[in-house]
Amino acid sequence: MSSKRVLITGAAGFLGSHLCDRFIKEGYQVVGMDNLLTGNLENIKHLFSIKEFEYYNHDVSKFVHVPGNLDYILHFASPASPIDYLKMPIQTLKVGSLGTHNLLGLALAKDARLLIASTSEVYGDPLVHPQNEEYWGNVNPIGPRGVYDEAKRFQEAITMAYHRTHGLETRIARIFNTYGPRMRLNDGRALPAFISQALKGEDITVFGDGSQTRSFCYVDDLIEGIYKLLLSDFENPINLGNPQEITIKEFAEEVVALTNSHSKIINKELPTDDPKQRQPDISIAKKILDWSPKVERTEGLRSTLDYFEKLISDKELIHETN
Ligand code: UDP
Repeated sequence: MSSKRVLITGAAGFLGSHLCDRFIKEGYQVVGMDNLLTGNLENIKHLFSIKEFEYYNHDVSKFVHVPGNLDYILHFASPASPIDYLKMPIQTLKVGSLGTHNLLGLALAKDARLLIASTSEVYGDPLVHPQNEEYWGNVNPIGPRGVYDEAKRFQEAITMAYHRTHGLETRIARIFNTYGPRMRLNDGRALPAFISQALKGEDITVFGDGSQTRSFCYVDDLIEGIYKLLLSDFENPINLGNPQEITIKEFAEEVVALTNSHSKIINKELPTDDPKQRQPDISIAKKILDWSPKVERTEGLRSTLDYFEKLISDKELIHETN
């Protein structure tokens, strides 16, 4: 076989499963790996009949063995929503640190290029706005979010160390809030929470007064950015996200309008260290990768809503037949 072979960790997760689809579509041989801590095989079950796809159930915090050659490794395994990493702080720290170390070793052994999924969380509760790659961040290392933020900061540090020490080819994507089909309905993130509350007619829980901002990128745009970054020559961290910024209160109102819901918006306590504002500066991605997001929020929200509506009605059907 002359086609390239790529290992994707977190393959059964939200972003990992979309990456598997993309690389299969591009003609790669794809090795998916996941330990299903937060991933779901439903997301990749359509790939199991494809001969170019292999799957390993494995926790990358432990030594990683993959038989055969590898050209690329994409490390996307990690709990990634605040609720998840609050529930699983030690696993979150381990997959970002030990997991990354194992994959760096694997990349060296296979002479493969490694792309790591970093995050806007490396900027913490940012004091610079919008956030550019030069900014070093404002992170509370011992706060509840510290387990994710610091794991990802360590991940960037060790990745650059391997690049500088061993000449390993590495890429670092700083991923901002991304949404779309295959997000988990109950991962506690704002979008699935709001959609599921709106569809069920429950109160929409806006944390704090909802004046904090986020900038939401549709998953297809993000995957395109990751693909371009992997194949580029750019070795420094790069922001990938959609700069269209919105307050969480406005976002909740958009979801209510989109779903024609009668739900009312209520306020709940703001979680500790919740970043007040977040917007990516994507000048570098535009210039180096010729990339910028294309999907408008109304369009992206519509297809995400379709996905969640189907998921909820399938679940209800299962309940009815049991
Ligand atoms: N949020 C909210 N209600 C919810 C879940 C989240 O108001 O039910 C807020 C949360 O406090 C944050 C924003 O929405 O300010 C985005 O939260 P999410 O968990 O989606 O992502 P992150 O905080 O990691 O950006």
